[in-house]
Amino acid sequence: MALFKTGIPNLVKCIQKRNIASLSALSETHQMLQKTCRDFTEGELKPIASKIDREHLYPKEQIKKMGELGLMGISVPEELGGTGLDYLAYAISLEEISRGCASAGVIMSVNNSLYLGPIMEWGTKEQKEKYITPYTDGNKVGCFALSEPGNGSDAGAASTTAKLEGTNYVLNGTKSWITNGYESEASVVLATTDKSLKHKGISAIIVPKPIEGLELGKKEDKLGIRGSSTCSLMFENCKVSKENLLGETGFGFKIAMKTLDAGRIGIASQALGIAQASLEVAAEYASKRLAFGKPLLKLQTIQNKLADMALQLESARLLTWRAAWLKDNKMPYTKEAAMAKLAASEAATFLSHQCIQILGGMGYVTDMPAERHYRDARITEIYEGTSEIQKLVIAGNLIKEMGL
Ligand SMILES: Cc1cc2nc3c(=O)[nH]c(=O)nc-3n(C[C@H](O)[C@H](O)[C@H](O)COP(=O)(O)OP(=O)(O)OC[C@H]3O[C@@H](n4cnc5c(N)ncnc54)[C@H](O)[C@@H]3O)c2cc1C
Repeated sequence: MALFKTGIPNLVKCIQKRNIASLSALSETHQMLQKTCRDFTEGELKPIASKIDREHLYPKEQIKKMGELGLMGISVPEELGGTGLDYLAYAISLEEISRGCASAGVIMSVNNSLYLGPIMEWGTKEQKEKYITPYTDGNKVGCFALSEPGNGSDAGAASTTAKLEGTNYVLNGTKSWITNGYESEASVVLATTDKSLKHKGISAIIVPKPIEGLELGKKEDKLGIRGSSTCSLMFENCKVSKENLLGETGFGFKIAMKTLDAGRIGIASQALGIAQASLEVAAEYASKRLAFGKPLLKLQTIQNKLADMALQLESARLLTWRAAWLKDNKMPYTKEAAMAKLAASEAATFLSHQCIQILGGMGYVTDMPAERHYRDARITEIYEGTSEIQKLVIAGNLIKEMGL
């Protein structure tokens, strides 16, 4: 309520400088990082976000600059070329980047959590030197290939095979929907090394790109996050050295599930950025647009909408930061990451929908970013586990915790 008693200009300022309350709880490093990312977003991402969306352009220069800022390998230790910060730092910076450009957000998220994450945790010294260090400065990006045309949610049913022949694995099959598929120079691929063992027969293999026997499918024409590429990886007798096995044989499903736990904190943060941007656009517009002789912001109906939006956003942010904090403190966080992803993705959809409503006709056209936020928000409810799958993860863990 206090928010609304402070008057219209202050309300807008409060929304733009959100986190003022939460900021005091953040360390100086986190606050500085947040400010650096916000400045970068204002100067480098917001001005190009609409163009890269419209023209399906990969933001190469901006990703390179994000690498220079240390955002492409945030949790990678400094000795491997990374920034050596924690997961909370990752969540905060990814939100700020996604607030300006959700495509840059997903590119950053896949490189950090889905590609570098598993190699950092399960890679050998040689694998880390070869496949981590060159991927931390924005010059190279990686990808993560789990989904297939025949199975997305049911990830354990992978039908791509990797057969050990001499010193190589020979890969056959198709991986679909792979983010960064076009630009990536290496991929963590999940393939079955022993079909009879079902999900326990899946292994993770690092595949360099380009490589003989690997072709890319068409670039998918997507609803949102159009500056990032999504395509199939098609393997036909693709030989990869057995040195590239990540972890042990048959460990792939476990690697994939643990990687997605961490990845969901990233997608939750991407969703928060989209939601925050929607709130800012809506409040700013409502403070200037006159209807019936006064700004929209003076109407209680509009204030109610803003209050509902702020509530969903702040709740989701707290869940996301809690999941990151649990991970940073080496505590279990599978359930909390699923809760964060579910809440934040639903918040992004809700806030971007309400934003269009507050803008009226102006919300529906590309002159304003509202419609892009609405399109970008939708994917956060689908990838790295749909909302339905997050509920299964939450309930499964809850039942276990309750000993039922
Ligand atoms: C733009 C984009 C980028 C992507 N990037 C990547 C990537 O980089 N790497 C990668 O590996 N994958 C990626 N994906 C794939 C993504 O993770 C899958 O699309 C997602 O997991 C859902 O799988 P599916 O599309 O096969 O849907 P399905 O699994 O066929 O699900 C269809 C519907 O059924 C529901 N459903 C399925 N099973 C259950 C169940 N047990 N209980 C209740 N409901 C259920 C789902 O929730 C959904 O609503 C990407 C997808 C897109 C669209």
